Amino acid sequence: MLKFISAALMAVTFCACDSAEKDLEKAESLISTDRMKEYIVELGSDKYQGRKPFSEGETLTINYLQKCFKDIGLEPTNGDSYLQKVPMVQVKGQITEPLTISNNKQTINFRYPEDFVAFSRQLTNKLELDASELVFAGYGIVAPEYNWNDYADIDVKGKTVIVLVNDPGLDSGNDKLFTGNAMTYYGRWSYKYEEAARQGAEAVFIIHDNKGAGYPWSVVVNSAAVAKVYPQPEDDYLQRCKTEGWIHQDKAMELFQSLDLDLAALIKEAKSKAYKGLPLKASAHMQLRNSWTSNISNNVLGMIKGSDLADEYLFYSAHWDHLGIGKAMNGDSIYNGAVDNGTSLAWMIEIARAFKAMPQAPRRSVVFFAPTAEESGLNGSAHYADTPIFPIAKTVANINNDLMLPYGRCKDVMVTGYGQSNLDDLLKAEAEKKGRYILPDPNAHTGMYYRSDHFSFARVGVPALFARGNVDHWEKGKAYMQEKEQEWINHCYHKPDDEYEDWWDLSGIEADAQLLFRVGWHIANTDQYPQWNEGSEFKAIREAQLE
Ligand SMILES: [Zn+2]
Repeated sequence: MLKFISAALMAVTFCACDSAEKDLEKAESLISTDRMKEYIVELGSDKYQGRKPFSEGETLTINYLQKCFKDIGLEPTNGDSYLQKVPMVQVKGQITEPLTISNNKQTINFRYPEDFVAFSRQLTNKLELDASELVFAGYGIVAPEYNWNDYADIDVKGKTVIVLVNDPGLDSGNDKLFTGNAMTYYGRWSYKYEEAARQGAEAVFIIHDNKGAGYPWSVVVNSAAVAKVYPQPEDDYLQRCKTEGWIHQDKAMELFQSLDLDLAALIKEAKSKAYKGLPLKASAHMQLRNSWTSNISNNVLGMIKGSDLADEYLFYSAHWDHLGIGKAMNGDSIYNGAVDNGTSLAWMIEIARAFKAMPQAPRRSVVFFAPTAEESGLNGSAHYADTPIFPIAKTVANINNDLMLPYGRCKDVMVTGYGQSNLDDLLKAEAEKKGRYILPDPNAHTGMYYRSDHFSFARVGVPALFARGNVDHWEKGKAYMQEKEQEWINHCYHKPDDEYEDWWDLSGIEADAQLLFRVGWHIANTDQYPQWNEGSEFKAIREAQLE
């Protein structure tokens, strides 16, 4: 009898699995490249003016996304609204006197923007560096867990610091030095500006190099040319440095040479814990003028309410904003952002559609989140993480995407931030079912894990996954994808040429939507919490929350 019951139970269980699998297959089959194309063409069209926060482009974008969410049947998240207000300030700086650096022998003139760019967060009209003493501070990092302090033996108060991009691990050949070639948060410009301000510096300039930054000088120039958007501050950002900026590597070489210093040698020396920064026996002069407007932008969030675990949340995310209208290139000044991030918005909307197509609601609630102002420094997602609608401790995971390339299907699923959490294991299992394999981001030195909205979730403790096919094309292999990706970065990344083209093949984004729909469905239907792995810098934050 017992035997009979368990056999019958097994049969029932088997049937349930089988029909659930059928439901999943049916739901994922509804994910459509035709509709993705429709979203991307619309959101990337010139009418949207590059989707700049506060612009007419914002109004069009958030209206369109709300309409998509409504059409699919997503519920509002913020009372009866899909919107969360994000107060921000937009600051436009103008260089009125370009940077010059002088010592007792000579003056070096920096051309804007060929040799340097500079801006300021301070909500102050006129910002001037006047004979500001120059100090070289290595990588500009204070990292207690690595027993590292580039500022320990130098005085930078009221002075101008020059620092290197990335962190000491880069090209050190030593995986134990920070995290080797994989960039830590300490390698990011945002961190370096924050640290210089904490040290009381008057100004901070980062020496650019393509590899260390993860992008060419043109990206620095384009992002400096447009007005910058920051969270609305309480202190007018008077605690920040008067000037933040970048120096072109060639010009930095020239500068150090003029001071009888060898920059290449200093870069090597700065990778040693024993290295101490040095005063440069020169001083900087520069002037810029700021004007600013405070304004409110919007995050867009729609949801599917869960069943028995409705007060726990899985977040998908894809930022809606891009750079707006900027410097013209080949007669085009609209930075359409069709790949960045029209593709990921299409990916997310179609995942939402698949969830809605399931005959039963997921156990946990699933939120589809399109943050604003990612391009200006993850402002929309950071605002959400700091002022959440749903409790962070009950937010079980985030699955983000950004900049999905339109070259067709890939065998790999590239995980940026691989090894951070056990979401990788779940992804691996689901990827293998689809004949794919997962791959740690081969360009971990660019610090991509800290460069899109999943980081805002990670920072407050929520395990976050950033994964997509990117490296190994299904038919044409790795060399092809490498060539295509490089071509795209050179010609389109943060340029007006990031536009929809008829040759685009969206099948890879469709496959990634199907895969990450399944991963999310699994997360939304267990009662376990995904976890950070041992060694992750976010593990302690999460554990304190869940106590
Ligand atoms: Zn992006």
